[in-house]
Amino acid sequence: MLQKIIEKINTLKKNKNAVILAHNYQIGEVQDIADFTGDSLDLSRKAASCDADVIVFCGVYFMAQTAAILSPQKTVLLPDKTAGCPMADMIGAEQLADLKKKHPDAIVVCYVNSTAEVKALSDYCCTSSNAVDVVNSIDEYRDIIFVPDKNLGQVVKQRTGRDMILWPGYCPTHVFATPDDIKRVQQQHPGAVTLAHPECPQAVRDCADVLLSTGQMLKFVKQSEKKEFLIATEIGIIHTLKKQNPEKVFYPASEKFLCPNMKKITLEKVLFSLEDDKYIIEVPKDIADKARIALDRMIAILPKG
Ligand code: SF4
Repeated sequence: MLQKIIEKINTLKKNKNAVILAHNYQIGEVQDIADFTGDSLDLSRKAASCDADVIVFCGVYFMAQTAAILSPQKTVLLPDKTAGCPMADMIGAEQLADLKKKHPDAIVVCYVNSTAEVKALSDYCCTSSNAVDVVNSIDEYRDIIFVPDKNLGQVVKQRTGRDMILWPGYCPTHVFATPDDIKRVQQQHPGAVTLAHPECPQAVRDCADVLLSTGQMLKFVKQSEKKEFLIATEIGIIHTLKKQNPEKVFYPASEKFLCPNMKKITLEKVLFSLEDDKYIIEVPKDIADKARIALDRMIAILPKG
């Protein structure tokens, strides 16, 4: 049955000149059928640079929107249109517009985990990999509004020494785990290195040996001589880590690191998506054109590749 679905997906992919992109937090089967896996920005850049006509984006809504903004000439499909991101929905365009009115001279930096409308009102976009570089590129005398993730915002404040205005948003998946959860697993595996994502709250970040975005975790583990790792981010990444490092061992730092939205996409839904062109994600041109400016400014200060 599974094999049949995979065969059908591959045939449709060929016939439609489609590529499948899957975020590192997707279920293993979906990651395995994908042409590319990565973090949200890697995937959007891949969507823009590939020559496919159709992009099946296995992730959450804001990621498919970002791909549609960067690739307006391609059809971007999200196999489950209810796969949203609660953090991205914690600030809307009106709320950001109000905040900008209170701080009219501030530069707005938005985490890529935000809606197209919020990106359109922002000056710069950033990811967890490059937020520090983006903030460091802004003139020191400018005030900065950072939305929507207060935890990533705190990390950026600590690393840049900049006093930013933070929106109180957060990722529910990264705030459920407690320091006690992490310490319990650390006691079970005393030789393991603990890697945590900057979306974790301070008390959990304090338990970590190193703070890294998902892309940085993949690189860190590949280059590390250590054999055991505790992973304090969404557990889907452990599939990628195991595949890339079969000789190393990975433990979830807590079973609570599970994003229900990231788990909504299944192989069946990928097949239905390709069969019926659903669900097409489109961003109105005026919003996409403005949002693209914030994304392009970020991409301009990124290392190439
Ligand atoms: S893990 Fe958190 S930030 Fe990522 S999609 Fe899920 S809720 Fe959003």
